[in-house]
Amino acid sequence: MTTKMAIGAKANAKSSSAFFHSQDIFRNQHRLIRFIEQSIRLCSNQSLKAAQQQQQQQQQLNKTQLDADFSISKSLNSEHWNAVPEPVEHDPDVGQQFYGNQLMVRLASPQQLQPKPDRDEDLIFGKQFTDHMLKIYYHKSLGGWQRPEITPLENLVMHPAAKVLHYAVELFEGMKAYRGVDGKIRIFRPNMNMNRMNLAAKRSGLPTFEGKEFIKCLSRLISIDSEWVPHTQAASLYIRPTLIGIDPTLGVASSDSALLYAILSPVGSYFKSDSTGAVSLLADPSYTRAWPGGVGNRKMGSNYAPTINVQKKADAKGLQQVLWLYGENHDLTEVGTMNIFMFFINDKGEKELITPPLNGLILPGITRDSILALARQWGQFKVTEGTFNMPRVCELLNQGRLLELFGTGTACLVSPINRIHYMNQDLYIPTMEQEKPVHETIRTALTDIQYGKVPHPWAVVIE
Ligand SMILES: *Cc1c(COP(=O)(O)O)cnc(C)c1O
Repeated sequence: MTTKMAIGAKANAKSSSAFFHSQDIFRNQHRLIRFIEQSIRLCSNQSLKAAQQQQQQQQQLNKTQLDADFSISKSLNSEHWNAVPEPVEHDPDVGQQFYGNQLMVRLASPQQLQPKPDRDEDLIFGKQFTDHMLKIYYHKSLGGWQRPEITPLENLVMHPAAKVLHYAVELFEGMKAYRGVDGKIRIFRPNMNMNRMNLAAKRSGLPTFEGKEFIKCLSRLISIDSEWVPHTQAASLYIRPTLIGIDPTLGVASSDSALLYAILSPVGSYFKSDSTGAVSLLADPSYTRAWPGGVGNRKMGSNYAPTINVQKKADAKGLQQVLWLYGENHDLTEVGTMNIFMFFINDKGEKELITPPLNGLILPGITRDSILALARQWGQFKVTEGTFNMPRVCELLNQGRLLELFGTGTACLVSPINRIHYMNQDLYIPTMEQEKPVHETIRTALTDIQYGKVPHPWAVVIE
């Protein structure tokens, strides 16, 4: 006990000094190692300095070159259709924000550049990535958000105690860049992704940020890797913004260090369907994706790991996706990672499009929101946000009143459903047998906007 106290006292007394007497050093191996480490750091700092200066000059050069031909189209500031991100209520102690005009760029060298895919039709979702990525660090101890940087796509280095690795302190987004029929590249309602991201950040104890500034950084990344935006309408460039907690501490607490980054991946259609283009579903009421008071309404990584084994069960039965049910009544909530829509003839004999309400169990999909807005504008059938369950689906099917069932999301856009395996029964859904299917009308309306066939404030041009 006395020895411990003595060492403790000596350590305190010495802690203000950077150097140790050799006697002290040999008494304590830890200190020796620290001393050597400090010396190495000192040496390498000096030799690195010249290289760093050179790199900074290069970055400045890259930056001015890119600033000249970079701007976001005015439609971002358009006032209608909710085109600007909602103001974020930052925690008072979040610290400084980052800005798009602070962006530093380190381009990949010619030998680092990857070959672009030949055939858009062969792309597998999320397997190939572009040459660059966007990174923005947050360190509370350094005042908050740091300068955004674009770098070659590279591995991340983090402490093995980083919170993201233990408590899934992680959230993400899914967006796309589309090459329009006029050759311009567009992103779709990016403000909605930013709002959703900040809500998830709050719920996860991660720092919030200005969505508008992140969109500026993202747009620059896309313009740098613009040759990766596929040239056909069968494909697009998937954008994966991600925010992770990287504090090297094991406490379950909010993150004082975080990394906001984005990677890009050229994608074709999201998943395999059968020859008709429709998918079949496993509806097993013994599994739940989300629950009241939970985070089913946030795109947080922790929501997705527990779905993988259920998806495997569906695969084993030859079914393509999982239909997520909730509660005693077997309410339909979502399908795979998509929102669900049903088109049917209601009790009054009217055609009606229905999707579950945003009651906390449902991811507030941007595709969902867009479909609701368009369908309400069309005024051709009733549009409802309301709960519906499996007994109701069976009843409507038996009476020939269920017309279409489909999933919606950025990755797949609209995915028609033709079969549900439920309680050892196969329910055949006539989605593909309609003469003028609503899901096709919706798909066309959305792609016309995304690929710039019709001008619309939802489509933001990147220049
Ligand atoms: C991403 C996602 C959706 C679709 O949202 P979009 O904004 O339309 O892409 C739906 N459900 C879940 C569970 C999701 O993760």
